[in-house]
Amino acid sequence: FMARVYNFSAGPSMLPEPVLRNAQAELLAYHGSVQRGRELSHRSSWFEEILASTEAAMRRVLGVPDNYRIGFFQGGATQQFAMVPLNLMTTGTADYLVTGNFSKKAAEEAAKFGTARIAASSKDRNFTYIPDVKAVEYDPNASYIHICQNNTIFGTTYVELPQVEGIPLVADVSSMIFSEPTDVTRYGCLYFGVQKNVAPAGMAVAILREDLLGRSAKGIPAEKIPTMMNYTTLLKADSMYNTPPCWCIYMTGLMMDYLEHEIGGLAQMQQINQAKAKVLYDYLDGQSFFKNPVEPRYRSRMNVTFTSPTPELDKEFCAEAAKAGLLNLKGHRLVGGMRASIYNAMPPQGVEALVAFMEKFRRAHA
Ligand code: PMP
Repeated sequence: FMARVYNFSAGPSMLPEPVLRNAQAELLAYHGSVQRGRELSHRSSWFEEILASTEAAMRRVLGVPDNYRIGFFQGGATQQFAMVPLNLMTTGTADYLVTGNFSKKAAEEAAKFGTARIAASSKDRNFTYIPDVKAVEYDPNASYIHICQNNTIFGTTYVELPQVEGIPLVADVSSMIFSEPTDVTRYGCLYFGVQKNVAPAGMAVAILREDLLGRSAKGIPAEKIPTMMNYTTLLKADSMYNTPPCWCIYMTGLMMDYLEHEIGGLAQMQQINQAKAKVLYDYLDGQSFFKNPVEPRYRSRMNVTFTSPTPELDKEFCAEAAKAGLLNLKGHRLVGGMRASIYNAMPPQGVEALVAFMEKFRRAHA
């Protein structure tokens, strides 16, 4: 049994060890199939079983109601930035809340298909907070309201969701999905890249309310939407319109199994994640060498940013941490400093090891 290093990468990120062990065990023989898991034809009954059971497990774990469709897509969360407006911007305009880099990119992509109105932004204070969603003036003509619910780079998260009668909420939940219970009924569309909290890189999942199917951006007839970017085509074919990302779907299935049976559901996962984040934020609040710039109410429980007194010390911190088995702590270039991504798969021991290392570093350099 090898001691595992702790990978604090924002994504692709760690997967839980039991999930990896299951994948390893099944790699050579999937449930009595003579074919190897990875090589299964996507038209085989084995793969249809994997796809159906993965979707069913996701419905149970996340509580996805029957009137929502689940789709497995290639192209990452970034492709969803375009698919959302192409399929849903029926009025030619949508409201975007810009709270970081990814919501900005989503808005820029949407502007190619219509008006992406910036209804609110937290750029004025370098994205260290989330605008008060109740105080925002939404456009009554908006096709939808788009948010990025957890800002991976800036380490912020929403505490309340925009809810406007008759206007669907669309959320990029890439860096927080399955970290806590989610009330799917509050959204028209949820989407996420799987490479942070769910599976190896290579797939995005979109969960869409059925009544939003069959639409298209104003001025773009539905049949002109490229087939692979059309939610309706793909969701009606149960993600099997063409060759789906089989391996990612299979790994997602193992992750759902782990969340359901080993963790015991998302409420339990939330408790574990809250406890982990508390260890790190309590440490940050109890000293003044390291600083976290985020307004405390909006702190992310998945991505924790901090800086030391100087960029030189930040660099030294990351280098020494890596030698101690604490990997990928360098902050995003837009923010500098450090970022510890502590998704579901980061064990509490990893966070404790990080805090112990931070304290050692502080003592040596304060
Ligand atoms: N949205 C968020 C919140 C992200 O963190 C990321 C990736 N870091 C993306 C979108 C882009 O995802 P992808 O690389 O899957 O396109």
